[in-house]
Amino acid sequence: MVLAGTRGSTDAPAYRAALDLLASGRYPFADIARAVGRRIPHGRSRAEGRSRMSNAEGEWRAEVVAFLDGNARLRTGLGDWSATSVHDDPAEEHEYFERCRAWQQTVFDHGFAGITWSPEYGGRGGQSWQQAIYREEESRYDVTSGFLTSTIALAGAALHGHGTEDQQERYLRPLLRGDEVWCQLFSEPDAGSDLANLGTRATLDGDQWVVTGQKVWTSGAQHADLGILLARSDPDAPKHRGITCFACPMQSPGIEIRPLRQITGSAHFNEVFLSEVRIPADAVIGEVHGGWTVGRAVLAAESAMIGGSTRFDPVVELLRVARARDRTSDPRVRQAMATYVARERILGILRERLRRDIRCGARPSVDGSVMKLLWSQARTARGELAVMLLGADALADDGTDPDPRFWRVELLSRYWGSIGGGTDEVHKNHVAERVLGLPREPRIDLDQPWSTGRPIGA
Ligand SMILES: Cc1cc2nc3c(=O)[nH]c(=O)nc-3n(C[C@H](O)[C@H](O)[C@H](O)COP(=O)(O)OP(=O)(O)OC[C@H]3O[C@@H](n4cnc5c(N)ncnc54)[C@H](O)[C@@H]3O)c2cc1C
Repeated sequence: MVLAGTRGSTDAPAYRAALDLLASGRYPFADIARAVGRRIPHGRSRAEGRSRMSNAEGEWRAEVVAFLDGNARLRTGLGDWSATSVHDDPAEEHEYFERCRAWQQTVFDHGFAGITWSPEYGGRGGQSWQQAIYREEESRYDVTSGFLTSTIALAGAALHGHGTEDQQERYLRPLLRGDEVWCQLFSEPDAGSDLANLGTRATLDGDQWVVTGQKVWTSGAQHADLGILLARSDPDAPKHRGITCFACPMQSPGIEIRPLRQITGSAHFNEVFLSEVRIPADAVIGEVHGGWTVGRAVLAAESAMIGGSTRFDPVVELLRVARARDRTSDPRVRQAMATYVARERILGILRERLRRDIRCGARPSVDGSVMKLLWSQARTARGELAVMLLGADALADDGTDPDPRFWRVELLSRYWGSIGGGTDEVHKNHVAERVLGLPREPRIDLDQPWSTGRPIGA
């Protein structure tokens, strides 16, 4: 449950007072809202408020807050270490990564990592609503597990859904604690949106697979111990049916990682070249030639994770920038701010709806592509709005104020949101087909052998 106006608040005593009320289970929603000094938003009835306040939720939230209070400090603003994930100096980038890892290890060691995972693999065996509450609470503190959050979600989806018992035993615990880091070796120069067209070849040689090809856009490969690799194991089968998924050790001979420097100055992703890399047969995740099913599970986990993520409260931060620069009476600023806030509000309501579905054990009532699209559009809009507020300061700053650098990076990173995790256009296609029931795009190559669609020599 989200208390009105408490997200991102640094008013810890008021928040805790509200928690106490919540934990007692005796007070109606209005009293809790009053305790944090805010009004209940229109449209939320007392009855609804009451029904959402179970003792179990209150107790769990209090337990989570006790852990966070004991191990982290509340967010103060964009100068916090956890607010900026983009670093152009490789040493700073490495330090940031290790700080994220140290936080994940703290979370694990206190029993709050993998809340829905089985205790056998270091999880808590809890419910999805507990995970949702944990995320809400953690977002108020100056902490993050950064890239590890995505690697755990993605590799976790592959291994939980398709790994053998031995693989789960071997990989899940170190993955969850951040002791072993995974990257995603899917995209290639000729296979992004049309991922099933991938051409990295895997050939069986005795009890080993020999893999040769090139991957691109591989986030975090420079930190990774293992990669979830998709490779073409049967070129004569139709493109979706001749792919195998592997757990690929990144230190294997034949792997070369070349960083790609982005417009922000950081090298978040890489090219990865694989030259006759030998992978043992027992590293296949799922069925041989059945890797597309594993890949789809990973991609579904990726869009759900991206669409649901929040690092800071952009509305609070943008309002702060507008007030600090005395721009709140400018009608253009007011108009742009109103449009932006409406956008964020819609996203927030949908997130809350998804959380409620999760808590009730219901099927998600909002399509993952809708969330991903709204999120990437909001991300683009907030960078543009911030730069409009900052004016020339967005480019010319002396480094003492965290705002210009933060928002400049936010603007320059807009394509991360609209390309990474599937492009906006491709998610629009999904919405058209899955949500609106429009005719599917023509797929003429579905039943043809993959090799017949390749240029000669490829
Ligand atoms: C920040 C970031 C991190 C990433 N991390 C990883 C990673 O760790 N591992 C990994 O494997 N990949 C990663 N990717 C790659 C990402 O998944 C791909 O970039 C994405 O799938 C798009 O593929 P592409 O770049 O090849 O574009 P293309 O597929 O070549 O698309 C080019 C253009 O054509 C449009 N287009 C393509 N097909 C259609 C269609 N059917 N209908 C309408 N328009 C279409 C696209 O929208 C796009 O505008 C990352 C990307 C980013 C930006």
